[in-house]
Order: sequence, then structure tokens, then C-alpha cells
Amino acid sequence: MSDTMQEEWLKALSYIRSRVEDTAFQTWFDCVKLNTVEDESITLIVPNRFHYEWLESKYRHLINDAIKEAFKKPLIVNYSVILTERTSDSIPKFKESGRRAIPPGYHRPSNLNDRYVFENFIEGKGNQFARAAAISVTDKPGQTYFNPLLIYSSPGLGKTHLLQAAGNRMLRKNRALKVLYITGEKFMLDFIGSLQQNKSSEFTKFYRNVDMLLLDDVQFFVGKEQTQEQFFHLFNDLYQKGKQIILTTDRHPRKLIGLQERLISRFQSGLITDINPPDLETRIAIIMNEAKHTGLDLEYSIVEFVARSISGDIRVMKSLLVRLQALSTLKNIDIDINLCRDVIRENIGESNLQSITYLQILNYISKDLKVSKKLLLGKSRSQDVASARQIIMFLTRKLTNLSLKNIGKELGGRDHSTVIHACKLVDERVKDDVSFSKMIKKYITDLSRFGN
Ligand code: ADP
Ligand code: MG
Repeated sequence: MSDTMQEEWLKALSYIRSRVEDTAFQTWFDCVKLNTVEDESITLIVPNRFHYEWLESKYRHLINDAIKEAFKKPLIVNYSVILTERTSDSIPKFKESGRRAIPPGYHRPSNLNDRYVFENFIEGKGNQFARAAAISVTDKPGQTYFNPLLIYSSPGLGKTHLLQAAGNRMLRKNRALKVLYITGEKFMLDFIGSLQQNKSSEFTKFYRNVDMLLLDDVQFFVGKEQTQEQFFHLFNDLYQKGKQIILTTDRHPRKLIGLQERLISRFQSGLITDINPPDLETRIAIIMNEAKHTGLDLEYSIVEFVARSISGDIRVMKSLLVRLQALSTLKNIDIDINLCRDVIRENIGESNLQSITYLQILNYISKDLKVSKKLLLGKSRSQDVASARQIIMFLTRKLTNLSLKNIGKELGGRDHSTVIHACKLVDERVKDDVSFSKMIKKYITDLSRFGN
């Protein structure tokens, strides 16, 4: 490899570096090495097949552009994997069972809910690795390093969704496969039931017959020695046959005190990945997606407000939307910030509401409308000042818990009837004047950002 080629490659890398986020660059490009450059092609070395698939699906265009820019011509990009991947004959492939006569529409009892698919799983920084891994195991079940694949996270971050989506995707590819989704709890109940009815060999036979096992909430096995024992043997049997296993837990398996060491070490032999809470943009995307699917008409400012008020649990976020929809339908009212605040306060708690302070509102409006605080708090009755003051009263009433009396007191010692009057005036103007109403909405959105 000539030094010039290496230099060109470094140029290509810096082209990429300036266009992706640092963490993404470190994860996906730092370890990519140049192998050869031919007349029309370039070969890059990547650590594993998954890495290559990821680059292909996410960064193909960027890599092509970078190479074209650096090498002054387009090159066909080939990848080579350094580590020797498991060869397909070391693990038996799935039996080709597609030829068996299967009545159309027949669905094996997989316990899968077709609501959970990758199409409606919003990708974000916190879940992208887990999602990619879940997709990748359905492309080559049992044949990647990701066996078992274990996904862990705190509740409501999408473990069950991903697990079921993987199962549904697998079934879509091959309906004849025996995909089985089961929770740790149900597995245990099945096992106990089989003991009671003297049917443990049926139990064993049933579970050993699956092609893909999706076991949800394995933390349930903690302290249940017999169930762990049973599962250990099942795991080994499936694993040896090259069947794909995907598991979820609520924390890293090493932290599951009361889970047998040998199970933990089996889990660690595959890929363990976590899901982190969604960032703001992801939360917004999830809400918008959910609203679209449930036919809920939400203004953007509301979407952002809800997304900002709820940080962790996506389940909570979704149930909030259901509640909002129910209330607005029952009471025949529009969903506005006030309704959202009430619902959040009742269902999740005051602490989740952003605490916007009166002073933040005062500062913000004073700056935006270019009216000094001195004037606002003073006696001036000029149109501009009075109007700005009314807006501040209105917003403080809407966005804080300050009483009418205290709002008046803060704003230059005015009495509470002045505040009521101001709120009424602003309310009326919002109804009549579209551009004024837009301005107020923008204020609410902007101010909502102060909270968190
Ligand atoms: P967990 O199993 O981790 O407790 P779930 O998979 O049950 O969480 O997710 C809770 C709810 O949030 C479900 O309704 C699920 O569909 C939804 N959800 C979770 N993550 C996402 C996401 N990234 N995109 C869309 N919906 C999601
Ligand atoms: Mg779950």
C-alpha cells in the first residue's frame, strides 16, 4: 500500500469526521482500516460483519462521497472482516422448512403481537445499537456472534417492543419457523404446571423444538433455582443447535443477584446491549408518530411540551397521550398546554412539570418586546407597556403556580382584579387575532424550554 493511498484514505476519513457526530465516528469509523486500493475499487477492513452491515445501511452514501472526494474518482467499496467469523457449517443452519405444506394465514402460536414491529419503533441514540442488533439477528439467526442477544434497560424503554419486533420480522421472512415469545414469568408457570401434571417431558420437548426463543424479563428467574436449572439446559440445547436466543432483563445480568453464575456467563458469551432513555428529539418523534397513528391532532408546541415534561418512560408518555385524547373527547375541548399540565400533574406528578418562574417570564418578555423591566414594574400606562404587562400576567398565570394576588404583587404591586382583567383581555385577543395568538403560542413554547 503506497503512502499516498493511505493519505487519501485519511482525507476520506476527515471528510466523514466533519459530517458525523463524534461518538458515531468513534464507534463506526475509528476502527475501519484501509486494506487495498485498486483501479476501480477500494477494500476496507472492519471488525465484524455487523459492523459492515451497519456501515452499508447507514453510511453508504457518505462513504462513497468521501472516497470520491479524496481519491478524485468514485470507487466500488468492498469490505473485509478481520476476525474469522463462525463459518456456516460450524453451526447447523435452520432447517429449510418452507416447503412443508402450510395453510395460508396459519400462524403458529408464537405469542407475538403484530403491533410491535420495527416500522413503528423510533430510532434514537439511546436505542440504535439494540435495534440494529435485533434486526441483524433476524437476518442471520443463530449465525452471528449475537447469540444470545441480551437487551437490558429500565422499564418502558422498548425491550418488549424490540423483542417482539424481532420475532415478527423473523416470521415475516419465514412463517414456518417456530418463533416463541414468552415472559420469564410465564415460562416459570409453565414449568411448574408441567411438574404438577407430570408432564415435564412434554414441557422439555415443546421448548426444545423452537427455532427462535424470545424470553422477556429474565430477571424474574432471580431466586427461582429450579426454573433456572430448567432454563439452563434448554439454553444449552438450543444454543448447540444454533437456534437464536434473545433475552431481556431490567439490568445488566451481572447485577442480577440470585441468578446462577453459569447462566450469567452464558449470557455474556453473546452480545449484551442496553437501551438508554430517549433524548428530547427521540421523544418528540415518538409522540408525533403515536399521535399520527391514533389520529390525535396535536400542535407542535404541545408535542414539545409533553416531550419535555416526561423524560424516561415511553410507556408513561404514551398513556399520557391516551389520557389527553380521552379527556379532550369527553369534555369536547381542545388539547392545549393547560390541559397537558393538568394531566401531567394528576398522572405523573408536579415534579415533572417544568418549573418556569415568574422572573423568567418577566425577563423574556421584557427582552422580546423591548420594554424595560423598570417600565413594566412602574406606573406607565402607555399602550406598549400595558400590553406587555398583560402578556406577562397571562403567561405567569398559565405557566406558574403563582396566585392572582401574588402575580399582581410581583408586577409592581397591582391588585388581583387587574390580573384577572389582563388575563381576560389577552384571552380575547388570542381568539380574535391570529398573529397575536401565534406570538403567544411561541412564547409558551419558548418558555417551556426553560424548565428542564
Ligand atoms: P419495556 O419492555 O422496556 O418495559 P416496552 O417495549 O413495553 O418497554 O415499551 C413501552 C411502550 O413504549 C410500548 O408501547 C412501546 O411500543 C413503546 N416504545 C418503546 N420504545 C419505543 C420507540 N423507540 N418507538 C416507539 N415506541 C416505543
Ligand atoms: Mg417489557
